[in-house]
Amino acid sequence: MRIVILSGAGLSAESGLGTFRDVGGLWQKYDLEEVATPEGFARKPGLVHQFYNARRANCATASPNDAHRALADLQQSGMAEVTLVTQNIDDLLERAGARDVIHMHGQVMRALCADCGHRWDAPAIMQPHDPCPACLAPATRPDIVWFGEIPYHMDAIGAALARADLFVAIGTSGAVYPAAGFVQEARHHGARTLELNLEPSDTARLFDETRLGPATRIVPDWVREMLNQR
Ligand code: NAD
Ligand code: ZN
Repeated sequence: MRIVILSGAGLSAESGLGTFRDVGGLWQKYDLEEVATPEGFARKPGLVHQFYNARRANCATASPNDAHRALADLQQSGMAEVTLVTQNIDDLLERAGARDVIHMHGQVMRALCADCGHRWDAPAIMQPHDPCPACLAPATRPDIVWFGEIPYHMDAIGAALARADLFVAIGTSGAVYPAAGFVQEARHHGARTLELNLEPSDTARLFDETRLGPATRIVPDWVREMLNQR
């Protein structure tokens, strides 16, 4: 059996990393156009670095939760070929023991040179004009896919969706494309589809089944069910 799991901010919410829409959350204190677009970075690189420096610090002090651990366990169990695709820029799935996580929106713990494409582990604090360790250009940026940029690994994700028997979306609002379209892609290729979310997402009607509740409860429950049916 082949399972593709798409996760969003809801997976990490109970680890203390705010979702996009959290009232009073980090995202609401900043204007999306200013901190999550290439144009915003060109206008105010200092502000954008400050935003991601804060996200990086949050991520470093957060711990994986039971939902991250359940997904890693499912992958390691060998009962299915599990492809983990995430919109999250944190590394909590990896720290729970998951392998080969596909970060379609990049990783806050990594840096990217806008000049030569070199990538490296981000320092705790990044600022405008930090030189790239490979080419020395003052063009370092967080290795994040901003709005208007093309998500990473779309070919690998498309191939996994085409072969999936089961597609599961966890803690994602279904508001941000192309990830929001994965459920239709998987369905089109014959996969069963399941949504695990706190509340029905924008795309809930496209799923065969929806289960509602906090990720740390409903994800381990679902994984236990999968492991018991072997
Ligand atoms: P989103 O904030 O739009 O949606 C989060 C979803 O999770 C909502 O449907 C909400 O009902 C659900 N949710 C909230 N708490 C939950 C919980 N405890 N258990 C289960 N579900 C819960 O986030 P998104 O769909 O991932 O997309 C928005 C964009 O914001 C993405 O591009 C993503 O990269 C970015 N983002 C990333 C992080 C992160 O890396 N941790 C955090 C916030 C936003
Ligand atoms: Zn460079």
